[in-house]
Amino acid sequence: MNSFEAFKDPALCRALLERLKKEADTPYRFMEVCGTHTVSIFQSGLRSLLPQTITHVTGPGCPVCVTHESEVACFLELAARDDIVLATFGDLMRVPGPKGKNLKTAQADGARVEVVYSPVDALAVAAANPGRTTIFLGVGFETTAPAVAATIRLAREQNLKNFRVLSFHKLVPPALAALVADPDINIDAFILPGHVSAIIGAAPYGFLAEKHGLPAVVTGFEPLDILSALLEITAMRASGRPAVVNAYTRVVAHDGNPVARAVMDEVFTPVDALWRGLGTLPGSGLDIREEFADFDALRLPGVSLPDAPPLAGCRCGEVLKGKMAPNECPLFDKACTPATPVGPCMVSTEGGCAAYHKYRLEL
Ligand code: SF4
Repeated sequence: MNSFEAFKDPALCRALLERLKKEADTPYRFMEVCGTHTVSIFQSGLRSLLPQTITHVTGPGCPVCVTHESEVACFLELAARDDIVLATFGDLMRVPGPKGKNLKTAQADGARVEVVYSPVDALAVAAANPGRTTIFLGVGFETTAPAVAATIRLAREQNLKNFRVLSFHKLVPPALAALVADPDINIDAFILPGHVSAIIGAAPYGFLAEKHGLPAVVTGFEPLDILSALLEITAMRASGRPAVVNAYTRVVAHDGNPVARAVMDEVFTPVDALWRGLGTLPGSGLDIREEFADFDALRLPGVSLPDAPPLAGCRCGEVLKGKMAPNECPLFDKACTPATPVGPCMVSTEGGCAAYHKYRLEL
């Protein structure tokens, strides 16, 4: 067994589960705020094995899902322009926008939309389309933003005149601050995102314990990581000493990745941002700094955030806040399936609705 597989060891998992069943005698609800954790908890079967005292709630950890209706409408307006080529990660292609349109239907209607695997690939798209402006759709959390920032810096070094980024990036700590400040949201503890924390470290979540008395654990994605985090949360609740614990030290340094943060800070500046379901959250997005204005798609003539109504019948907003389980949505598995998604939480493989649908036999 290699060291990676050891984190899935069945005997160790069973032992930790038994401990959890004995120790978690007071009920609590924990939220994970990373789509990869959502999938891991279902895929490993942990969800159905947890003690009845522990309730798992999915949170706003899927970047495609939290992209606001107006931002999706903006993508579609850009797709309709002859002078624009869009470059995007593939998971945005089927996110529904106004009037049932998405980037895939726009592509079928003749829009130039290129799927890329890395932001830097968008520079090659720009070089291949000299008569048009290539716009990379910047969606994602702190995990993605440094690579996009480095791409903008590279575009400046290459003196590319026809490349821009539409920065709709989101920052996780302000979203958690909004969730815990909402009296209608009932969460007792958090499993914090491993990937985002690799960039920002554990310190930015300190307010969860210090201000709100909530235990929170940064952890990895294997079953033993998740079970260890739940044991840590259970122990903190029992002792009445909540803290933010970094239990993913094989990947996450206490202060994160200073190099990645430096490039992010060089190119972006925090700004109020729109989140699906959460509305406008102060300091929760990233704008492109004045020094890189020539690469900012929002500064192009005719580009703005249009008003867009919520998707009819879709309850993604409540799912993302942990107010509703995906299978409580009236459209779940009826009008809304992965083949016919009504909302983004059913499109993305990291969305709560898609995970509930795929692993429903284990619910
Ligand atoms: Fe939206 Fe579909 Fe999820 Fe309901 S099941 S919240 S319609 S994505």
